[in-house]
Amino acid sequence: MDNCIFCQIVAGDIPSRTVYEDDDVLAFLDVNPLAPGHTLVIPKDHHETLTELPEDEGDAVFSALHRLAPAVEVAVDAPASTVAFNNGEAAGQEVPHVHGHIVPRFDDDGGRPIHALVSDQPELHDDELDDIAAAIAEER
Ligand code: AMP
Ligand code: ZN
Repeated sequence: MDNCIFCQIVAGDIPSRTVYEDDDVLAFLDVNPLAPGHTLVIPKDHHETLTELPEDEGDAVFSALHRLAPAVEVAVDAPASTVAFNNGEAAGQEVPHVHGHIVPRFDDDGGRPIHALVSDQPELHDDELDDIAAAIAEER
């Protein structure tokens, strides 16, 4: 995709601080880091969200995340990391090329856990939870 900034990084047309590369995956430092070591892991092929990402490329992305999260933590001496995808525009995704974030976390960083994502947490009754679980199981 010519106008995709991450495709341009894959093509070498835009510089990046690459920390890992294989046939399917590229990982590089985020240009606007939330913490030292904030790393992005992307499939080399252009896919907008996890829904469009073929399973084998998803496996490759997860495998890289799995290897890189501990490497990032060690490199910046972080005791933990938040590993997450903004998966779609409504979830805050700004670059429409799938990317996983590895954000090193520190005890005093003022950051919050994934449970702080929404301010209006729904109250769901047992029958609603049963219906949702069944709907997901049917779709997967
Ligand atoms: P998201 O909001 O999940 O789409 O995150 C996009 C991320 O890409 C942001 O954290 C940006 O700082 C990062 N970003 C945008 N352009 C570049 C770039 N040229 N090199 C590295 N990271 C970038
Ligand atoms: Zn792209």
